[in-house]
Amino acid sequence: MSSITIPTSLTDLTRTYLELEERHGAHNYHPLPVVLNRGAGVHVWDVDGRRYFDCLSGYSAVNQGHCHPRIISALIEQASQLTLTSRAFHSDALGEYVQYITGYFGYDKVLPMNTGVEAVETAIKLCRRWGYHIKNIPENKARIIVCANNFHGRTTTVISFSTDPDANRAFGPYAPGFIAIPFNDAAALAAALEDPHVAGFLMEPIQGEAGVVVPDEGYLQTARQYCRAAGVLFIADEIQTGLGRTGRMLACDHENVRPDILILGKALSGGIMPISAVLADDEIMLTIRPGEHGSTYGGNPLACKVAIAALQVLKDERLAENARDMGELFRQEIRQLRSPYIRQVRGKGLLNAIVIEHPRADAAWELCLALKDNGLLAKPTHGDKIRLAPPLVITKAEILECVEIVRDSLTIWEGDN
Ligand code: PLP
Repeated sequence: MSSITIPTSLTDLTRTYLELEERHGAHNYHPLPVVLNRGAGVHVWDVDGRRYFDCLSGYSAVNQGHCHPRIISALIEQASQLTLTSRAFHSDALGEYVQYITGYFGYDKVLPMNTGVEAVETAIKLCRRWGYHIKNIPENKARIIVCANNFHGRTTTVISFSTDPDANRAFGPYAPGFIAIPFNDAAALAAALEDPHVAGFLMEPIQGEAGVVVPDEGYLQTARQYCRAAGVLFIADEIQTGLGRTGRMLACDHENVRPDILILGKALSGGIMPISAVLADDEIMLTIRPGEHGSTYGGNPLACKVAIAALQVLKDERLAENARDMGELFRQEIRQLRSPYIRQVRGKGLLNAIVIEHPRADAAWELCLALKDNGLLAKPTHGDKIRLAPPLVITKAEILECVEIVRDSLTIWEGDN
């Protein structure tokens, strides 16, 4: 059983909170030893009043920056008016929201949910339903192609097609109906599409949790064309890559690809509450009828108003454009450090990772502790990679400050070799 080792150099206040979580919270995360209680823009503060750059952004949920004033005021205004109707009744906010978001992304319909993984589950159900009702796949035979090293969330169905043993070991039996192929491999996709029972291809346009794996240019366009030719739905999970993060509104926009089913989450609320959405055209969306899918909180009036504000902020503040420019600057500056401990810096927009070159297995964790001590929060993903994904409101001066912190932190290994 894993347990959090509490470093001794922490203040008493910080230790108090770490111990409370250790004693009373499930041990399903391994956080850095920092206890936060305030956020604004690109910064967060700990309980001792120390300020940090947030280079994780709530796993890309806080694209608009912490506690964005426009989103917070939409939240407060609606919170004092009406928060939940359930879908047993209509709300004026839902009507306004569904019109706004479908116009924003150019789809006939939206199905609102809460967490990202719920939206993925919704997309899987829609895809299978379309497979049976429109493509005429025999009942219970539908298959969905997925990619190795995917991350789409943590429900039992979704972990059934994970290839990461940490995600699915000893959680079986696993749901059938998924075929895993290598990511960024068009030939493997073509071969898998020969199965006439395939209904969809579910993918992340950039694999985030896997360590920010960017496919070759042209892969998305080719995959999209192969799916169309095979009569298979192209389903993009843009929960992490969407909403400006990679320098375009959607990562699929880099290759002018329009998914048949688009899955959004995270920054759809700017980090305020769980809001997710599945967008598709009528041929797909209308295969699910009343009573066949839903969620108590999905499409609640509070979420609707928060999501409208969060989407408006992305456009009004040109955050995708800023992500593109700041991301280029960041990668260029990190490369110029020419550190022997950085094997690679990769990414698109402000979804970036540095791959650490160091003999010790826990080097990335060690560097994250040093970054924290120097005022920057980031977290390793899959061993030797550190994802650096600050809020998209970050300025040029702040990027340069972050790079300075990385440079200073790399000195922990000086004298090692
Ligand atoms: N899909 C992708 C690509 C993600 O990155 C994540 C979360 O990191 C999810 C799905 C799951 O979202 P949630 O944690 O809100 O369920």
